[in-house]
Amino acid sequence: MLMSKMASTVDTSNSSGLELHNKDKRMTIATTGMFPTRAAIDGDRLWRSLMDLAEIGGTPKGGCNRQALTDLDRQGRELLTRWCKAEGLTVRFDAIGNLFARRAGRNDTADPVVIGSHIDTQPTGGKYDGCFGVLAALEVIRTLNVNGIETERPIELVSWTNEEGCRFAPCMMGSGVFAGQLTLEDALSRTDVDGISAGDALKAIGYMGDDANRPGRFAAYLEAHIEQGPILEDTGDTIGVVTGALGLKWFDVTITGMAAHSGSTPMHLRRNALLGATQVVDAVNRIALTYQPDGRGTVGALQLLPNSRNVIPGQVTLSVDFRHSESDVLETIVGEFRKTLDTIATETGLAIEITPTADYPPQHFDTDCIAAVRQGAQANGYAHRDIVSGAGHDAVFIGDIAPTAMIFIPCEKGISHNESEYATPEDVAAGANVLLHATLNLSGAKA
Ligand SMILES: [Zn+2]
Repeated sequence: MLMSKMASTVDTSNSSGLELHNKDKRMTIATTGMFPTRAAIDGDRLWRSLMDLAEIGGTPKGGCNRQALTDLDRQGRELLTRWCKAEGLTVRFDAIGNLFARRAGRNDTADPVVIGSHIDTQPTGGKYDGCFGVLAALEVIRTLNVNGIETERPIELVSWTNEEGCRFAPCMMGSGVFAGQLTLEDALSRTDVDGISAGDALKAIGYMGDDANRPGRFAAYLEAHIEQGPILEDTGDTIGVVTGALGLKWFDVTITGMAAHSGSTPMHLRRNALLGATQVVDAVNRIALTYQPDGRGTVGALQLLPNSRNVIPGQVTLSVDFRHSESDVLETIVGEFRKTLDTIATETGLAIEITPTADYPPQHFDTDCIAAVRQGAQANGYAHRDIVSGAGHDAVFIGDIAPTAMIFIPCEKGISHNESEYATPEDVAAGANVLLHATLNLSGAKA
């Protein structure tokens, strides 16, 4: 399928200057208003690169197994580095192995616009999660080079180390260290199932660099990614303008009754912990349903004791996962949850204990970066909608330290972290065209 003719009319109306704001400082950059009117990415070239990278760790079922800091990761990094150098980029690595590849700007001391994602995969991962964002960034740079387009600001392609977190926990390790969510020492000391530390694995593949190689403050960070959910496919939109990410609150709930003989204990004298648990499962679902469209509530794991067919369950422990895009609504959800569990405990005579296990606030991306993405979709005539990410991404951490936004494209049936993960060549090209437009907008392009 060919998509290199996918037209892109880049908006030339933005000549008023663009204000970007970092958390601590506001700055204004002048945009030139001289964007090339017909610049468009080469969809065939981007698709070929996606397929070429996917061969490294390619699985018989058409997926990819290229876990972080393995020899296959090394091979993937080498291919990416080769491609970046072929475009004249300066490639460096920081101490956690994040790759930065720089294209100089006309004002090369200006803060860069940073674009990218990650190239590590799950053990039974697909070709698109992460790789699409990195190779779309590479395709943007190739397009600028082919068309002789200069940008006022430098552009940095980034590939974050160990986003998936499957070999070494936690996920989003490289961006987490970069954003100060965890220390370098902590990250490097994490071990895999064989007891190998992330630090030793990083050294073994030859990609432990130096933090002096990091770009300084980002003017903006943009990450293109497959949606990893079913919303865009359901609504028929090509582009998701990602306005932020859901916050989450996790709990363990322990419900305690009395284990007793299932034959000799009459029904009216039982304290069945599993019966209480069914009410909790229903309450989590019901509460989340009242806060649509962004509310999520899930009981995903459940253990019962003694878990025997002729014993009344004496204790049940279950996991609860609540998410929402607004902090105050998330608080309200949790308040209702606690109140409902109090009522269940009173009515059933069971003891219910709630233990918080994780708490991440919602991320709200930068207004100007979101606007640049939306304008990119509009200028290209792509059907688009605002969307909130339900999954974690490197951009969620980077959003704490730099103006950030994301671009989502649909993935088939919303499936990801799966060898059958798929995005169409047309949608891949569309996402890269939006990234091109938004990057030009934020970096101040001159034809
Ligand atoms: Zn990803």
